[in-house]
Order: sequence, then structure tokens, then C-alpha cells
Amino acid sequence: MASALRLLEVKGLSRHFGGIRAMDNMELRVEQGEIVGIIGPNGAGKSTFFSVVSGHQKATAGRVVFGGIDVTSWRPHRIARRGLIRGFQANVLFREHTVLWNVLVGCQIPVGFTLLGTLFNVTSTLAKQKQALEQAYEILDFVKMAEFSEQRASVLSYGHQRILSLAISLAARPRLLLLDEPTTGMDADQLETMLNLITKVRDSGVTILLVEHNMRAIFKLCDRIAVMRAGTKLADGTPAEIKSNQEVIGAYLGGGAVDA
Ligand code: ADP
Ligand code: MG
Repeated sequence: MASALRLLEVKGLSRHFGGIRAMDNMELRVEQGEIVGIIGPNGAGKSTFFSVVSGHQKATAGRVVFGGIDVTSWRPHRIARRGLIRGFQANVLFREHTVLWNVLVGCQIPVGFTLLGTLFNVTSTLAKQKQALEQAYEILDFVKMAEFSEQRASVLSYGHQRILSLAISLAARPRLLLLDEPTTGMDADQLETMLNLITKVRDSGVTILLVEHNMRAIFKLCDRIAVMRAGTKLADGTPAEIKSNQEVIGAYLGGGAVDA
């Protein structure tokens, strides 16, 4: 694929905590429009990878190039402004505020919590407020949650809280969205809804990096899969290549673990 389409390039990326190598010499390339899955056992370094790529943790070594620009160890809000967004976690929803309010906050602040208090200063003009409202409703329509817009986040079902957190991430207008276990704790129906939504997000033009333990979901959804072990990349390839990679099967998938 032409390098012009390369959205993310990670080279030799490491994050050490004293002697602990949470991530070590990680490599990954992501082309625009892909869904790339990252799998690996607990403690493999998947979340650390997301934290360092999105600027929430500093790299000990290595480079993160996003959209052709070296963003290594930039602050998260600066990286987010360029369109690299780490998914909002469901447990930090503004539970006592409405669904609409939560999404509006996302529209205003791809920069994190700091500007929350100044939400209405930022949207100081009516025109801006109107624009933000339109965008928020558009996103709620997109995730099929418009009917819940006036409900408090705290009364939503667990599945809808997870979808709301996705909506908040979308409000930040990602070009690349990092989703860390978005289906954890979901029942089969919620899982199906979330997977369809992730595909819909990709089809709308957002490139996605997905950490997910559900192997059926990973193998169904992803164009490519990277396998992490002990902080580094063990292998990557198409779902078919990963399924038949003996080293991966031995290290992680186990016999018959992938029958999707
Ligand atoms: P995963 O998301 O794949 O389960 P993590 O990225 O959370 O893995 O963790 C990778 C490794 O780094 C684990 O061994 C974990 O204990 C270690 N680690 C993560 N964060 C810290 C930290 N702040 N201090 C020390 N060790 C950490
Ligand atoms: Mg993790």
C-alpha cells in the first residue's frame, strides 16, 4: 500500500518503569481506513502501548509518527487535536449529567477535563453553541442514542454507557481511534451492537486500533491483527495469517481457541 496512506507508524517504542519493561521495542504501522486488532495475554503491554501512543504516558524510547508528523511524547490534548484519540472510558462518564451534555463536552474538549469548567466560555457565541449542539445530535443519531439524549448517564444500561463513551470519543472527531476492550462485560446482544457500531465508525472514515479479548470479534472485524507478548510485537498479519501462525498459536491462541 502506498505510504501516502500511512496514518500511524510506531518504531522501537518502549516504556519502562524502573526494571519493568511494560512495553519494549514495539513496532506497528497502520494504514488509513483499517481496523487493526491488538491481542495478547494480560500484561502484554497493550494498554501501555495505547497510553504512550496517545501521549498519556511518555515514551522511554522510540517514535510515534502520526499523519507524517512525529508526535512522540506530545501532550495528549495536542495529539488529540491532530485526530488521534484514545477512547473515553465508560467509568469516567459524567454520570449525573445528561447524555447530550456528555457528548457536548466531547465536542468541545478533545483536550481532556481541564476545559470542562469553561465549556460555555469556549462556546461563547450562539453560533458556536448551535454548531456544537448540531454535532452532538448528529453523533447521537449515528450511535442510535438520540432518544436518550435527555436522560442522565447514570440511568443508562451498561451497554448504552459503553456506547455513550464511544459517542464522546467520536465527538472529538478522531482520524485514528484507539479502543481498549470496548466490549468488556457486555452480553451477546450488546456485544453485537458494539461490533456493528465499530464497523460503522470505520466505514465513516475513522481508522481504528482495537484491543479486544473476544477472539471471534477480533477475527471478524479486523483487517490486520498484531499480537503482543511481554511488551513487544510477536507477529502481525491478516486474520488468516495470524490464525495459522504456529508461534502465535503456541504463545497465545492455544489449540482451537479461534474457531470464528
Ligand atoms: P495489558 O493492557 O496488555 O494487559 P499493560 O499495558 O496494562 O498490559 O501492562 C503491561 C505490563 O506493564 C504489566 O506487567 C504491568 O504490570 C506493567 N505496568 C503497567 N503500568 C505500570 C506502572 N505504572 N508501573 C509499573 N508497571 C506497570
Ligand atoms: Mg489492558
